[in-house]
Amino acid sequence: MNEYETVIGLEVHAELSTKTKIFCSCPTSFGAEPNTHTCPICMAMPGTLPVLNEKVVEYAVKAGLATNCEISRNSKNDRKNYFYPDLPKSYQISQFDKPLCEHGYVEIDTEDGKKQIRLLRIHIEEDAGKLNHDEFGGGSLVDLNRAGVPLIEIVSEPDLRSSQEVEQYLRKLKSILEYIEVSDCKMQEGSLRTDVNVSVRKRGETKLGTRTEMKNMNSFRSIVRAIEYEANRQIDVLEDGGKIEQETLRWDEVSGKTFSMRDKEDAQDYRYFPDPDLVAIKLSDEYIENVKKELPELPETRKKRYLEEYHLTEKDANIISSSKYLADLFEKASEICNNPKVVNNWIISDISRILNETEMEPIEIPFDYKQLAKLVILIDKGTISSSIAKKVLVEMFENPRDPEEIIKEKGWIQISDEGAIKEVVLKILSENPQSISDYKAGKDRALGFLVGQAMKQTKGQANPQMLNKMFIEEMNK
Ligand code: ADP
Ligand code: ZN
Ligand code: MG
Repeated sequence: MNEYETVIGLEVHAELSTKTKIFCSCPTSFGAEPNTHTCPICMAMPGTLPVLNEKVVEYAVKAGLATNCEISRNSKNDRKNYFYPDLPKSYQISQFDKPLCEHGYVEIDTEDGKKQIRLLRIHIEEDAGKLNHDEFGGGSLVDLNRAGVPLIEIVSEPDLRSSQEVEQYLRKLKSILEYIEVSDCKMQEGSLRTDVNVSVRKRGETKLGTRTEMKNMNSFRSIVRAIEYEANRQIDVLEDGGKIEQETLRWDEVSGKTFSMRDKEDAQDYRYFPDPDLVAIKLSDEYIENVKKELPELPETRKKRYLEEYHLTEKDANIISSSKYLADLFEKASEICNNPKVVNNWIISDISRILNETEMEPIEIPFDYKQLAKLVILIDKGTISSSIAKKVLVEMFENPRDPEEIIKEKGWIQISDEGAIKEVVLKILSENPQSISDYKAGKDRALGFLVGQAMKQTKGQANPQMLNKMFIEEMNK
């Protein structure tokens, strides 16, 4: 098996977060009642004319600059002709031979160090509508809310060599698009979806093998599984003396297999030609310079700053800077509570764990930086112990409100009353005479055990510093 190498190239579609569609002024927001975000233009009524939304060009140029592309001074829109029920014009306005951005790259971390994944192009195009199947007596209904929502398509060279590299590349790309705020990249809502092209070849071979393509994938897990399955399938076919057919496949999540889609879409001729209803897109150097000036700090730069300014570890800086949302949460909360080290720990450990367990994206965290800062301050002041704080955090995820309010409501305030602490200490000491002799014999671990017992007894509410101090005092009496 190891004499083969897997080769992957991706076409990534990202929905742009402009307020209005690419050629009309309908809203782009997700989740509205079917066909309420429509007008004669995006419904393709005869006689209507498209007008290009300037913001779409700006966002695409931003994405190009953030991924080291050359920006075309001279670009245009082309018609890509095909028939499908969710495409009312029977053509999609896209870009053919003069895309807005070309020849960029995205850098990823691999086991052998940094690697540049080259981008062939980034072009703008309109999204199609959506077919809703089987809802009414087995028929299909068309929802055109998504028709005309602006997309950028980011096409990579076939530079990726494993499913891990693909995941790294996609995460990096997603992170960049989030930082520059051109797409919300919500994969479950289809804002970021990927066509995955896979081929295999013998190691050392320079010619590319025949590829197959899996369209519209929107989960990291499925993409990784699908690539691994498909590469192995292709190797088996070749080893058996067979030939790979260039075709579009469907990945089935349940069986974990790819299936042929029958209709050989790859044989399609789109008969591209320049859209006569739209003028050419001409960009001046000044325009491009201005967009460049507006680019925010990108993930790599932030990461560097976190290493230098906050002395985070490489691993922590990677995790936090990979998401603009986490990075903002970290910086803004740290500023309020003046304790970046503890904020970092909360984000890296408990918050990341909950995000993982609930498959939530950082942008969906239901509380804000002020509430996180408050949690840290409450621990610093000794109002709650860190074990209680963990419970407060869970509450903040489940039913977000002010941490102080949660503590009051639940009666979770830390016991810092000397009399109450002393009572617990004396009780635990009377129950554990062996620990006292161990401590006196120089076994420091005995102290930790006693504090642990007292914490258990008070359900984590006793102030651990006070417990520590008082145990030592009592045992030294
Ligand atoms: P299409 O739009 O018809 O799918 P493109 O030529 O634009 O065709 O290629 C699309 C993607 O396929 C690109 O990301 C490219 O890197 C990738 N690709 C092309 N050839 C191969 C191959 N042999 N193996 C893997 N990926 C490939
Ligand atoms: Zn419209
Ligand atoms: Mg393709």
